[in-house]
Parts: sequence; C-alpha cells; structure tokens
Amino acid sequence: MSNILPLFYDLITLLQNPAEFTSKKPSINHISHSLLPFTLHFLIPMSIIITNKIGIPKLFWRLNLYNGLISYTVKKKYLPKNTGIMVYFLNDVEHKYIVMNLRPKIRANPVPEELRGWNWHSPPLKPYYDVKLPMYLVCSSYCKTARDVYLTMVEGKKGEEDFNISLGKAVHEAIAGAIREAKKLNFDAEPPEQENETIQCAVNLVWDYTISACKSSFLKAKAEQPYASEEDVIATSIPFLVEHRMDGTLLGCSGIIAVDCYDYLRNIVFDVKLSSSKNMRLYTTGYALVIESLYEIPVDIGCTVSVSFKKDRLALSKDIYYIDANLRNWWIEERDKKAEIVYNQVDPGKPDECNPKCMFRSICL
Ligand code: SF4
Repeated sequence: MSNILPLFYDLITLLQNPAEFTSKKPSINHISHSLLPFTLHFLIPMSIIITNKIGIPKLFWRLNLYNGLISYTVKKKYLPKNTGIMVYFLNDVEHKYIVMNLRPKIRANPVPEELRGWNWHSPPLKPYYDVKLPMYLVCSSYCKTARDVYLTMVEGKKGEEDFNISLGKAVHEAIAGAIREAKKLNFDAEPPEQENETIQCAVNLVWDYTISACKSSFLKAKAEQPYASEEDVIATSIPFLVEHRMDGTLLGCSGIIAVDCYDYLRNIVFDVKLSSSKNMRLYTTGYALVIESLYEIPVDIGCTVSVSFKKDRLALSKDIYYIDANLRNWWIEERDKKAEIVYNQVDPGKPDECNPKCMFRSICL
C-alpha cells in the first residue's frame, strides 16, 4: 500500500495540474487531501465486498477521474437483499417513483371534488342506507355473492379463525407493537409471545426487522439534526400513526376503524397483507376516504405491503399507487352493494364456487 499511495497522488496531481506535477514535490497535506477521496471511494466499497462476501469480479466499477475526485458505481443487484426495503419506510427508488411519477400524474389528473372524503354529505359518497359496516366487510372479496356480509351482519354469525388469520393478526400486532416501542426508544423490547411456534418465528422476524429499521431511521435523523429535540427527531424519523383508530360513520362504516399505518408527513396510507387478491387496493382507498372525511386533508397515495415468509426469511413487496377516481368509485359501489344486503336482510345465496379460505365454510357447506 505504501508503494501505491505516492503513485496514486501523482496520478491525481497530473490530472489536476500537469505544471505543478513537474515543478514540486507533494506535501503531507497534499497527500492527505488526495487520500480522502481514495478512502471514501475505495475502502468503503471494499468493506461492502467483504461484508457481503462477494468477489471483486462480481463488482461493477465505474471510475471517473476528474478534478482529483473518484466516483464509483456498485451494481445494485450485488447489494444485500432487501436493502432499504422496510415495512413502512420507503427506499430511494420508491421515493423517486412517487416524486417523479405518481405526484405529477396526480397533479395532472386530480381527484374530483365529489369523491373526496370531506364530501361525505353529498352523493355519491353520502351513504344511501342507514347501515354501519366494518371496513373489512366492505373491502373483502372472499365470497362472490357477499354472503359473508349477510351472515356476519344479519345473522350475527362468526367465522372460524384458521392458521392464516391467526398469523395475520399476530404479524399486524407485532409491526404495530415494534413501532410503538421504537417511538419510546425502547429498541431492546422483546416481541410478544405466541403459543404457536411457527407464528412465534414469524413474529420474531417481523419484530426485529421493524424495530431495527426504526432505530436506524432515528439514529440517522438524530445525527443529521444534532440540535433537534428528541420528540422532534422521533416525530420526523418514525412519522407513522399505527393502528390509528378512526370513526368511519360519516361514510357508512363502523365507529372503530383501525388503519394499519398512516404516514402523516407524506400523506400515504399503508395496509399490510399476508395474502394477495385483486381487492387489495380497496382497503387503503377506504382508509383514505375516512381520513379525508375526518381531517379534511387530501390522501392521494396508497401502499399495500405484502408480507410473506420463506423458511426463516421475511420477504416484503410493495404496491404503491394513486387512490384515483376509479378506486374511489369502486369502493362506493362495494359499500352500497353490501349495505343493501344488510338493510334488506335478504340472503344473497351461495356462489357457484366457494373460496377455500372462507371462514364460513363450516356454516354454509
Ligand atoms: S362458505 Fe361460500 S357461500 Fe359461505 S360465505 Fe364463504 S364463499 Fe360465501
């Protein structure tokens, strides 16, 4: 290394000022000045290689030598999996997608006023029937004829909770609990105990992941704003209302609706799912409408976070979208269709095919 450094300095000096290179010897200050970019741009990527156990041939470098500075590019696929992907934190690519793609589209094609939640007192948002439905019944698509709505709301039946539903509940509680503990700066808090070993394993993964992400965000914000109060750093580095309770009665929903997460700095509604269905976006749409009806602020962006477990690994993916007029109209149609069933108390009957995951199979079949 001691043989390389003078050569490295010479190269930089030659590029910066060929005349100086031929006229004088380098001083210690010159050397340390030139070493700074070398340290920043060589040793740090090398540490990435070592920590990720990847070889130099797999690393793609782009060296740009100008004005004594070196920049490099490390191919993203060689960075650790899930880098920057956190349950409710958006990574750089997702931020860019929102700022450069979604927000301009939203400005060019804004939501019509009559479809804003604060217009709950006028059609089409005004509830047609005097019925209060839970959000999950408005948005669920388990039963094609919505017999689950009839059984729950008219006959007062309860479905059977299976493993997937227990897992989903435990994961939701773990994410919300981890964020609450992180906001109290209790980063060493333990995850809640579960009876089922598989569920415990999933809860531990989600808990560690969420609390680490919050800690990282908090420490980063604290270092960047050394004069900010602790409350301020918490409020801006973990800007999430989790399991926020809201009254949805203005829109014909129940009085205790809980949104998985609302990012109050960026006005984004999050919904966590452990399964996939075409109706996923309806949940965030419903929550956005309720937030608009209560707080009279526009909520244009929704994000559905799909969580899955592969052996002992947690896998996350995000669907980020504009809560546009189509989604809002679709939500209103679902609400009115299901409210009509409850109001008229008429059994809609069974569909040709029942969902194998439906909670009411023991009642209907
Ligand atoms: S069991 Fe079939 S009919 Fe009954 S609620 Fe479920 S999907 Fe509908």
